[in-house]
Amino acid sequence: MLLIALCLVFCLSPAHATGFNGQSYVPLADWARASGLRCFWLKRGDEIVATNRTTRLVFDKYSRMAEVNGINVALSFPVALDHGTLLIAQMDLNTAIRPLLFLPRFADPKRITTICLDPGHGGKDTGNHTFWHSEKTYTLALALELRDQLQKAGFNVILTRNKDTYVELPDRPALANRRGADLFVSLHFNATPTGKDDVEGPQTYCITPVGASSTDAQGEGANYGPTMANRVEQRSLLLAYQMQKSLVQYLRVPDRGVRRARYAVLRDATMPAILIEGGYMTHPVERKKIYDAAYRRQMAQAMVKGIIAYQRLVSPPPVPMALPITNRLVGTNRVSTLKHMQ
Ligand SMILES: [Zn+2]
Repeated sequence: MLLIALCLVFCLSPAHATGFNGQSYVPLADWARASGLRCFWLKRGDEIVATNRTTRLVFDKYSRMAEVNGINVALSFPVALDHGTLLIAQMDLNTAIRPLLFLPRFADPKRITTICLDPGHGGKDTGNHTFWHSEKTYTLALALELRDQLQKAGFNVILTRNKDTYVELPDRPALANRRGADLFVSLHFNATPTGKDDVEGPQTYCITPVGASSTDAQGEGANYGPTMANRVEQRSLLLAYQMQKSLVQYLRVPDRGVRRARYAVLRDATMPAILIEGGYMTHPVERKKIYDAAYRRQMAQAMVKGIIAYQRLVSPPPVPMALPITNRLVGTNRVSTLKHMQ
């Protein structure tokens, strides 16, 4: 029974695979059923839901954004529609959906002790600039607040800069690597390129999977080779997911999603690494919050919660001996992941 179930979940027959965008695609409904999820249309031909007692996934036709238990997660390839059937790229099942639903077994689930915080920009590099406010000022202010809160929570913290200085991009992950940091968190604030003022909310980036183009690719395509960061990309995705979820739920702000990018500060990190865009300096209400120390304190609290939620996932508590029969099929790790995904 176990072998049959594992085969259904992990080895969908190549006969079901279809080619789009140069990728192998599989019918979403078939994958969902094989993974123990009930599948139905929210809008026939447009939007599909895959759900069970603990999980809810929503996919839209032609969209690169999926909803995973209430949080938006960018896919590498859009969901396709073929003769009334929604299809998903096998690569997205492997690199975005499965790692979030079925917690991978990490070879070295070591405890997180040291966290490297990277306040974006600094010195001659102001970052985004709206009126007389520079992004570099607020990334540093947030980093110092987050450092204090993480230290209170028992973590060691390293900063790539603690004053208004310019630090080269490659030097930032290099410092984290040299000092043996367990996590790398780069802090930024966003702006729309046109100054359009109706976009708000945080987004959290982690490394792009090998063979995919980044979520907001600007000329950087799928043929970019593997980076150092791809070695730990599943952990980075889990960290990004937990961080985004914590920010959205705790701050009650619009969800701009977990996204993928090969930013210079992410691609050379050897530990799980994320880049957070904490909100938009071009949004008239959100920018006032970003400039407010009390709001940044709340944002830092949400980030500490996100890191602690991630830590629980990668260092799960001992698994109870008696498991419900429905959970035995896909292994014990699924139980702890799904609990934490709620
Ligand atoms: Zn920035």
